[in-house]
Amino acid sequence: MRVPLIAGNWKMNTTVSEAIDLVKEMRHGLDQIDNVDKVICPPFISLAPIKELIKGSTIKLGAQNLYFEEKGAYTGEISPPMLAELCEFVIVGHSERRHYFNETEEIVDKKVQAALRVGLKPILCIGETLEENEAGKTEKVLTRQLSSPSAQIYYFSGTVLAYEPIWAIGTGRAATGKQANETIGFIRQHISKQYGKGIAQKVRILYGGSVTADNIAEFINQPDIDGALVGGASLKADEFLSIVRQTSEIKRGR
Ligand code: PEP
Repeated sequence: MRVPLIAGNWKMNTTVSEAIDLVKEMRHGLDQIDNVDKVICPPFISLAPIKELIKGSTIKLGAQNLYFEEKGAYTGEISPPMLAELCEFVIVGHSERRHYFNETEEIVDKKVQAALRVGLKPILCIGETLEENEAGKTEKVLTRQLSSPSAQIYYFSGTVLAYEPIWAIGTGRAATGKQANETIGFIRQHISKQYGKGIAQKVRILYGGSVTADNIAEFINQPDIDGALVGGASLKADEFLSIVRQTSEIKRGR
């Protein structure tokens, strides 16, 4: 059985003191829930203080990005070994990074590999634009995004996939549970064809895009969806807790 996972992507929000307050608000509630992996991904500068704060807690930490080189003259970048000391997960290839920072498939692949080399678990984001969706190109785009020659290593090493249709991110216009499940089913089938059914059944695939406490159940009730990558709603302690709690109850009932 795949352990459900809910990850909060805080994006470029919260100062260090705000991040600490937010963790304090949600820590106790999150610790009451034991059958879901609960991952929070604050800005880089809050990783170290939050790591201290959650000692002994079941909350897991993730970063939002990394650079693929190990060290050197890359002013302003954060390397995989730096993160490996602080957290367990790292978001890679978020559509905002692909769009605003020109991250290509090649760069995303290098980042996934660099993360895996130091034992970080990537949360690899894939998804189509509205234009691609309307042109019926979703499957083609996803196939391209998953076609790295080293993709096989991804799945054997604990990489989590997040299907995030770009038109649904931060727009309040989520996909329907059925739509998301069909596309995630396609992704699983693609992995099965390439690398075998066993590995396809093990890979955790999340949905992301305008997930809230009001619509999470619709996604979690779908058989192929293993959790969610949550942006805006992860910045509200009560709402994030409700998302995790509903996920726990639905998956436990299955
Ligand atoms: C995200 O940042 O990955 C995301 C899905 O954002 P939101 O939930 O705000 O749409």
